[in-house]
Amino acid sequence: MSAVRDAESGMSVLHDEAWFAARASRGVQGLKAYDPGHDLVAFRRKYGTENLVELGSNENPYGPSPAARAAIVAQLDSLHRYPDPLGADLKRALAAKHGVETNRILLGNGSHELLMLLAQVFAGPGDDVVFSRYGFAVFALATQAAGASRIVVDALPDDHPVMPLGHDLDAIATAITPATKLVYLANPNNPTGTWFGREAFAAFMAKVPSDVIVVMDEAYAEMADADADAATALPFLSSHPNLLLTRTFSKAYGLAGLRVGYLIGAPGLVAVMERLRESFNVNGPALAACEAALGDVAHLDSGCERNSAQRIELARALERRDLRTYPSQTNFLLVRFGPQTAQVEAALTARGVVLRPMGGYGLPECLRITVGNPDENRRLLAALDDVLETLR
Ligand SMILES: *Cc1c(COP(=O)(O)O)cnc(C)c1O
Repeated sequence: MSAVRDAESGMSVLHDEAWFAARASRGVQGLKAYDPGHDLVAFRRKYGTENLVELGSNENPYGPSPAARAAIVAQLDSLHRYPDPLGADLKRALAAKHGVETNRILLGNGSHELLMLLAQVFAGPGDDVVFSRYGFAVFALATQAAGASRIVVDALPDDHPVMPLGHDLDAIATAITPATKLVYLANPNNPTGTWFGREAFAAFMAKVPSDVIVVMDEAYAEMADADADAATALPFLSSHPNLLLTRTFSKAYGLAGLRVGYLIGAPGLVAVMERLRESFNVNGPALAACEAALGDVAHLDSGCERNSAQRIELARALERRDLRTYPSQTNFLLVRFGPQTAQVEAALTARGVVLRPMGGYGLPECLRITVGNPDENRRLLAALDDVLETLR
């Protein structure tokens, strides 16, 4: 990079990342960009898509409903038009599905966008945002970008008999102070896979002051089956206007490439968020595809059923190899590989099997494995057996 001479001082100035960071807002100064894991595009080029087993991003191996694809194709003649800035058709379909009014729904370019926007709207310098250790990475990112303070609450202990590393709702409630503006929860949570039930959540909400906004990230809610109870905070919305939930089309609906998520909350909350939402944040093909996907309940259900069956089978297969898996109600498993984790991960990557390292989450002895389809899981286990044999 070439340096530029400063007109006043005559000194040469390098306009590098540090120079621009010094000019960024305070929250952004301390920020690290979201770590997407591996460079998958480079891997695809290197190994070829056929030879790669991509189990690092919790994508849906069964893909979206064919109706979503058809809806996108039908949109291709309208690409010169702006999309509906209100996303009214999709909102109506979502409102009908969830039994809520349309003015309780806000659409996002992925739920990631909404999680970021929530902190931007409701928290700033001097405010606290509370979330669990091992909670979804975007919670910390959103808080810091907004310039607010991160209050990270210890998770349930690793030897907890029911939900190791899960959210400790009692401790989270206790961490709330008058400075707290926002609490982020994920149920089920990524990267742990852990969840909590309805009774525990009711007890938690009873302790939260009504001026604190509680965000329930339910990215995997459609997949939860063990505890029908665990599935959603939806029934609490009418009695708790300070509660909202976020959902996504990226996981159970298999539409991660389209970037669509949504929020359900109080109409007043949605109205305030609308002030900052970019007018055309969800594109036309995506709006049409998601509406169509909502209509194909059979596809959603069959994908979720296949995922549950494969998750149980994969967890058993890993346990048979003396690898500890954490309880999960999602399409991934957190797996403890111990001190050799980095070597195992590198050796699997060299064999074209991509998992998600967990060092960034403070779990360097674990890897997160997306539950694939039967063929992907077979290839993963074969590569793993090979790797464990060579490392022994
Ligand atoms: C994948 C995921 C999301 C969302 O993603 P988008 O693709 O941005 O909708 C949100 N929360 C959690 C916990 C996730 O795992």
